[in-house]
Amino acid sequence: MLFDLSKTGRSAFKFAKLDVPKKGLSDYIPERYLRKNQALLPEVAEPELARHFTHLASMNHHIDKGFYPLGSCTMKYNPKVNEHTSRLPGFSGLHPLAPVKITQGALRLMYELQGLLAEISGFDAVTLEPAAGAQGELCANLITRAYFKERGEERTKVIIPDSAHGTNPASVTLSGFESVTVASNADGLIDLDDLTEKLSTDIALIMITNPNTLGLFERDICKITEKVHRAGALAYLDGANLNALMGIVKPADMGFDLMHFNLHKTFSTPHGGGGPGSGPVGVTKELADFLPVPVITKDADEYSLIYNRPKTIGKLHGYYGNFGVMVKAYTYIRLLGASGLYEVSKNAILNANYLKTLIGKYLEIPHSRHCMHEFVASGKELKMFNNLRTADLAKRLLDYGYHSPTVYFPLIVSEALMVEPTETETAETLDGFATAVQRIVQEARINPEMLRKAPHTTPVGRLDEVRAIKELDVCYRPDRRT
Ligand SMILES: *Cc1c(COP(=O)(O)O)cnc(C)c1O
Repeated sequence: MLFDLSKTGRSAFKFAKLDVPKKGLSDYIPERYLRKNQALLPEVAEPELARHFTHLASMNHHIDKGFYPLGSCTMKYNPKVNEHTSRLPGFSGLHPLAPVKITQGALRLMYELQGLLAEISGFDAVTLEPAAGAQGELCANLITRAYFKERGEERTKVIIPDSAHGTNPASVTLSGFESVTVASNADGLIDLDDLTEKLSTDIALIMITNPNTLGLFERDICKITEKVHRAGALAYLDGANLNALMGIVKPADMGFDLMHFNLHKTFSTPHGGGGPGSGPVGVTKELADFLPVPVITKDADEYSLIYNRPKTIGKLHGYYGNFGVMVKAYTYIRLLGASGLYEVSKNAILNANYLKTLIGKYLEIPHSRHCMHEFVASGKELKMFNNLRTADLAKRLLDYGYHSPTVYFPLIVSEALMVEPTETETAETLDGFATAVQRIVQEARINPEMLRKAPHTTPVGRLDEVRAIKELDVCYRPDRRT
């Protein structure tokens, strides 16, 4: 712990000698707001500080350290040039309340990013304001409500497939709608008969993930959106899997009325562990007036922020959203260009199908037809070996130096293991991962306890997951490996 290294008076920095009169804090801040006791802070030298945090970073698994095939999350490698551009002082030092005449460069970047996202998706207007995919969903549900309110239609329900991400029903509920589940069929796709049955004049919206969370493309998507429109409802794309579609098909062309993007997934940005994201929303021109404010416009060569929009759903985020993530996504898109983004999707699909073929030798893959950028295996057969579970295999993968794929999601596959290799990995890396899975499945037969007690080599071993949540203890103690 950093506090253990602390020595009173030690410091990582020195100020130059004062050449102005010395003043106390109370000369600037009223006495009553000042703390009575010194804050308890560690006092350490700069090398100790650097080593401490480098050590912590190396204890954790991250994309710069190893393969991270966490399905649905798109943990692709994040090009470091994005970090460079997002830290350019003109961007990172910009105050959000700076007058627009000195923020034209930042506004231009946002305006152009909206345009790029519109081109990729086929939508007419885009807001960059939502902070992540989940807030993009909320934004889309609120736009849907405003749209039907204006039309004087009372529609209170939203249809969601049973394979959907958990944020979908949460966003529906937060927006004051009620969610209705539509079943998947034996192929892992939306069951059209069930959909027909659920569609009624109560339905405002259907939220669809395509490719869906099994990594499968909804083949009947145009039929589905047409059916939904005939019932008077809108169709929304959960765009978290857009990295499988870029340059191949535009969401608007599949009949969707609105969608969210996850800039931090599709267009790279370090994420996970609560890092900032960005969840822009794209809409057709019929819905554009409802977008959150401010809207960025361009008139001649001047960019402005427009707040006066009578039909807007209002504001969703402080200021304009997470600007740093926008700079990273803009950099990524401009560097790759249209053909580069197409290559991204093609290679994401190729890598997933390659790995699926390898993993399919050792684990069951319930919906094993050609997948898009990810696939879902099942660890159900591990039960034969002393009742092992997917979680045991996932934990053992850490000992082989791999982050586990997503487990127990989607809910419609028992003992699910959801694998998304992304386009940034080499064939050798994918081979190595498949070999690790092969070894672990062999271990399960001969030494199931090896899996059940895994991981064995990480700084933190197998936790009691319920206790870990109820008695949170984030202090690292080198002497206590639990
Ligand atoms: C990640 C994800 C979301 C939520 O996005 P966040 O940016 O994490 O809020 C929604 N749907 C799907 C399918 C996702 O993979």
